[in-house]
Amino acid sequence: MNFTLEKSATAFAEAKRYIPGGVNSPVRSFRGVGGTPPFIAKAAGSRIYDIDGNSYIDYVGSWGPMILGHAHPEVIGELTEALMRGTSYGAPTLLETELARLITEAVPSMELVRFVNSGTEATMSALRLARAYTKRNKIVKFIGCYHGHHDSLLIKAGSGAATFGVPDSPGVPDSIASNTLTVEYNDAAGLAAIFEKQGEDIAAVIIEPVPGNMGMVLPRPGYLEAVRDITEKHGALLIFDEVMSGFRVAYGGAQEVFNITPDLTCLGKVIGGGLPVAAYGGRRDIMELIAPSGPVYQAGTLSGNPLAMTAGIATLHLLMQTETFYEDVTKMTAALCAGIKAQAEKHGFNFQFHQLGTMFGLFFSETPVYDYASAKQSDIAAFNIFFHAMLEQGIYLAPSQFEAAFMSGAHSQADIDATIAASGNAFAKVAQ
Ligand code: PLP
Repeated sequence: MNFTLEKSATAFAEAKRYIPGGVNSPVRSFRGVGGTPPFIAKAAGSRIYDIDGNSYIDYVGSWGPMILGHAHPEVIGELTEALMRGTSYGAPTLLETELARLITEAVPSMELVRFVNSGTEATMSALRLARAYTKRNKIVKFIGCYHGHHDSLLIKAGSGAATFGVPDSPGVPDSIASNTLTVEYNDAAGLAAIFEKQGEDIAAVIIEPVPGNMGMVLPRPGYLEAVRDITEKHGALLIFDEVMSGFRVAYGGAQEVFNITPDLTCLGKVIGGGLPVAAYGGRRDIMELIAPSGPVYQAGTLSGNPLAMTAGIATLHLLMQTETFYEDVTKMTAALCAGIKAQAEKHGFNFQFHQLGTMFGLFFSETPVYDYASAKQSDIAAFNIFFHAMLEQGIYLAPSQFEAAFMSGAHSQADIDATIAASGNAFAKVAQ
């Protein structure tokens, strides 16, 4: 059967009549790679299905949450029962305490947890809290790290080390951007230099410990330790944004893998099992500042929603149930990366592969990638050819060189073999 996205193209045109760009999150529009985004009709296990009748092996997993695969029968079963009990109460439930307990057990640095609806809300609230706790205004973020779309963190960097923030988007006031300092990831000396100059004004450093939003990048040995030392020395809080890496690179997230204790942590994605949930939490003395315990205000009509809590609890229970879950899925991920790498090399490409746990990424670059500047050296045109060649063979990757990929417990050896074979054909096309 010939690959066609005819129905999706019609649906996309119709969507554009009512929704800016036809999508509710920009990357879904395929702007980076060109062409038509498949409109999705349903998903199950490792696969998603579009309205044109195509099926794909999915390595996007709704951008990270679907670590068990789509529509896991037990998660759906729990959700169906919860649905019959009503969809939202705006009052406390046992479910919220249960999910908070599971999270504090998995991530011991999170002594108290507050649930919100998106990663954006989590990082926004964590920054407010850090500013209130330290009574300082400035924050540091890393170039190429993404923490959601609120004003303080939607900041692009100039080149070099520290620079005053330049807004990434029209609508972000300069007065807010100027409180956000930026530095390249993996550059401990650059961070130390910012602190030498402005340490007394810096409330917090927020970091994706394993960045997944400039493609996937790994911390150099000792780097996260240095970030922890610098923040501690200057009395600034360290916020780990583990919205992506939490329950993904390991059950306890990157802080478990690298044995670092941040002051605050943001979570999202996996903890909601595909429903809108995120959280922030951390040291009790800091978190006690949040209303109603303390004066720092943060609230939400649908926060701790019973359906969302149910999906999160069911997901974490299932992740714990199989003792070797992370080990098994990590092995599958390594096998996939090794297979694709071998195909790349067969066609003469010495590209960069990164993996930690069930998260992985491929840069179309012949030189090592360790920060945003080096990620930007990737051959975008080559990636785009590869991306479309994979899509046409039924492999669904993120439509951008600067995104990570995710394995799930539902992917089979047959999925992996098919993906490796498809990558061989796709690299052949890139080589043409
Ligand atoms: N932080 C990180 C590390 C993320 O990857 C994302 C989203 O991809 C966010 C925050 C924002 O989360 P949300 O899209 O739920 O607002």
